[in-house]
Amino acid sequence: MISPNAALAELERDQTVGPLTHLPDWSAIRPDLIEPAVDVLLAEIESAFHELEQSAQPTWSGLMEPLERLNIRLGRCIGTISHLLSVRYSDELQAAYDLIRPRFVDLGNQMSQSRSIYAALKAMQSGPERRSLDPVRQRVATETLRGMVRAGVHLEGVPRQRFQAIQTRLSELANTFSTNLVKAERKARVRLTALDEIAGIPQALLDMAASTAREDGVTTANNTAGPWHFIVNGVNYSLVTYAQDPGVREQFYRAYKARGTDAELDNRPVLEEILCLRQEMAALVGFPNYVEYSLDAKMAVSPAAVWDLMERLESAARPNAQRELAELASFAKDQGGADHLAPWDVPYWAEKLELARFGYDNEALRSYFQLPIVLNGLFELTGKLYGATFTPVTDGSVPLWHPDVQFYRVEIDNRTIAGFFLDPYARPGEKRGGAWMNTVVDRNRLLATNSNVASLPVALLVMNARPPADGQPALMSLDEVRTLFHEFGHATQLLFTEVNEGSASGLNLVEWDAVELASQFNEYWMDHKPFLRSLSRHIGTGAVLSEAIATRIIDGANFMAGNATLRQLMFAKTDLRIHERFGVAGANENQSPQAIEQSVARETLVLPALPEESQLPAFTHLFSGGYAAGYYSYKWAEVLAADAFGAFHDVGLEDPDALRGVAERFKSTVLALGGSLPAGEIFRLFRGRDADPQALLVKQGLLAPAA
Ligand code: ZN
Repeated sequence: MISPNAALAELERDQTVGPLTHLPDWSAIRPDLIEPAVDVLLAEIESAFHELEQSAQPTWSGLMEPLERLNIRLGRCIGTISHLLSVRYSDELQAAYDLIRPRFVDLGNQMSQSRSIYAALKAMQSGPERRSLDPVRQRVATETLRGMVRAGVHLEGVPRQRFQAIQTRLSELANTFSTNLVKAERKARVRLTALDEIAGIPQALLDMAASTAREDGVTTANNTAGPWHFIVNGVNYSLVTYAQDPGVREQFYRAYKARGTDAELDNRPVLEEILCLRQEMAALVGFPNYVEYSLDAKMAVSPAAVWDLMERLESAARPNAQRELAELASFAKDQGGADHLAPWDVPYWAEKLELARFGYDNEALRSYFQLPIVLNGLFELTGKLYGATFTPVTDGSVPLWHPDVQFYRVEIDNRTIAGFFLDPYARPGEKRGGAWMNTVVDRNRLLATNSNVASLPVALLVMNARPPADGQPALMSLDEVRTLFHEFGHATQLLFTEVNEGSASGLNLVEWDAVELASQFNEYWMDHKPFLRSLSRHIGTGAVLSEAIATRIIDGANFMAGNATLRQLMFAKTDLRIHERFGVAGANENQSPQAIEQSVARETLVLPALPEESQLPAFTHLFSGGYAAGYYSYKWAEVLAADAFGAFHDVGLEDPDALRGVAERFKSTVLALGGSLPAGEIFRLFRGRDADPQALLVKQGLLAPAA
């Protein structure tokens, strides 16, 4: 039996590989060590924190630095465990994590809610120390203080109690909101029994539906003879795209749009309470409404700036959306469809039209995209643009969490600047789905060793690509390639960070609505035809993807872009308007959220939604996710990314010298400066002006390029 202190030493063991330091030894994180080790860790941090509360000085070295050291230690330990939970799940690991979770959440709350820390920070900001801080530290201090105000740390007495009660209630309500949907999903079904009803529905969906029917107690349910029970969820929404029978499409569409309104599981009162509490919370800490509260932490400087952008996008998208729907209606009519398109007809006919115009076989395309070649193309591009090379480290010196994981040393001019883990393949039962990028080590002066000014950053990128089969390299779908480019774009912001202050380096302190800039920017390279083709080599013939297919892929991405834009704008506008108005005295507060949503839909969409249709009771982004008064961020970041790519486009994507120049500027601003300056300022440093939506509209075919 190992002592708790020894267990903690194991868990915190650092590896050093050349200039890269603080790499965790993943294999040391054994489930049986976690609870005793983390107990010791939390006790040590808690007592150090209480000491700091007593002795805090209104200075960087007497307050911010010791606080940061505690946060680094806590974050490092918990971050490593939760990473393993996502990529090497086991019941034992989960059980250990569940034991420690309430304890570290509690400590985290204590630390972020400390009034003495708040008082010391405020004194620092208004005292002589502030002038001696460099601009990056000033920003870290300012943003930390603003975050504390938004969290109500400064409140006293009754308002403080009320604020905390609201927080507790809001987290319960968010949980109720998503649980209601999960429970409703267990009950709601669209049941089909006749063979002519299932025409057009893909076999994979039918197989799932037959198996659901068996789970529902229909023991005789058969994949090919039915009956089929379709769970009313996002996966099965493709029924509306594929079912030939308009009656089936309508039935599923209506069931889907009614999610969250079930008698006992009705989310409408839940969301109304959430909205009212958000307004009350915003008012308690001095904001006129929840939109202003949300924007306080974002790049968008005001609600007006967001509305302006949306109006520009909307007016460009509308004529396109009208034309798209007119074309779709005449196509449907030619093919024997109804005279007028109902909402459930649009996805169906759009799919048929898209196939006719841009169709390609997704599965066959895999043979062109071999993971090692795609990865090599990505690294070469990164080398061409930013001068970086990626060298695999295969000598066993870097601990990996799984044999499939690859580690690369990132160098510029033969000098190591960063490290990069890639975990590409799906591992069912062990790895969480989806794809993400995360920080393993921040660039941080507090973690500097030897003669370095700061630790070198290390990123990890996790994907769920289809694993290699039969001794072949892994073959990627186009979506998987795109995902790799997206997540790698996030990673570039960490790998190339030049900020030494850990709290503002890499992606730290980058505003929520600017975070997707680097990732979406990196995806744009795939829409450059010569580059896309250079990533391809057919596994059998060695041939490069044909010019014609590459054109179909790239042009097909803009199919129905006008309608897609209006749909996103409708969600973004609804989100802003309900958070501006509902529950705010004097702001038309008696109009229900659904009435607000319907009026936004009427003014925004070309093809009207059903009068009874409402997305809000199932809108988890807004009511149990992090997108409240922030759904606009999707479009906001698209505009930034397209405009940034526009700078590359303007100098000519085939001119290596010109490209290198603009890439250097992009690297030294957007990628290097991270959260050390407001995102708007960084963008202006790169582009010489504010972001302009023109580039996005041209890219999506919604606006003709300027002459
Ligand atoms: Zn992303």
